[in-house]
Amino acid sequence: MNLNEIKRYSRQLILQDFGTKEQGKLKRAKVAVTGAGGLGSPISTYLTLAGVGEIHIFDMDNVELSNLNRQFLYTPEDEGKPKIEIAAKRLQEINPEIKVEGINEKITYDNAFDILKDYDAIVDGTDNFAVRYAVNDSAVVNKIPLFHGAALMYEGRVMSIIPKDTACFRCVFPEAPPQGTIPTCREAGILGSVTGIVGSIQATEAIRYLAGLEIGLKNKLLIINTDIMSFDVVNIRRREDCTTCGEKFIPKPVEDVCEVNPSITHD
Ligand SMILES: [Zn+2]
Repeated sequence: MNLNEIKRYSRQLILQDFGTKEQGKLKRAKVAVTGAGGLGSPISTYLTLAGVGEIHIFDMDNVELSNLNRQFLYTPEDEGKPKIEIAAKRLQEINPEIKVEGINEKITYDNAFDILKDYDAIVDGTDNFAVRYAVNDSAVVNKIPLFHGAALMYEGRVMSIIPKDTACFRCVFPEAPPQGTIPTCREAGILGSVTGIVGSIQATEAIRYLAGLEIGLKNKLLIINTDIMSFDVVNIRRREDCTTCGEKFIPKPVEDVCEVNPSITHD
């Protein structure tokens, strides 16, 4: 570590259980963040601030004014520009000691297994089931820890998936909900601070894991309801008949609602 890094990370280097060894682990880590939106903003910001050595952000949307109630990496001047370009530049400015790259690629069931394979962790900031299942299945098959989060309206969910050790997303939700039963944030709305809570918890779990510290959301689903400000932890477990992490992997792509109905776009 150079002098700037020692100063920059000094407040976490003095933490109990955290030191240069742990900081070194973060520095050597390469992490994929899927999505540069409401969850991707806090996730990628906190990974950047903590000193994760290499961060790749996947997204292919352009900035819209309606993103700005929650996606704090962007300003009105960025409207119409590719999110990853703005996000990568801004995060790189925030921490020049690390490497941030934006990747303008749509994650699908066909390419996820290949493009998400060379990472130490994946933090999922996607907002639709097609990509969520693709990310889960590829993470399990490639044995990459996955930090899942979702936020809608005033609620959020987080779980940490360590392949073959803990339950995966499909163990808990074997099938995607039928189309039209779950609204998107474009239809139902989302409070920006709720994406902040969820993304910050995902980032905290990922940072702790990469630094070699214990994490709390293994085999547990955290359910956040800010209507009553409740944080409930539900125990979950691996299903032997899970088609993703069970005995035999069976590919099960989920249809992309946004491709079926182009009026609904990812946010
Ligand atoms: Zn599973």
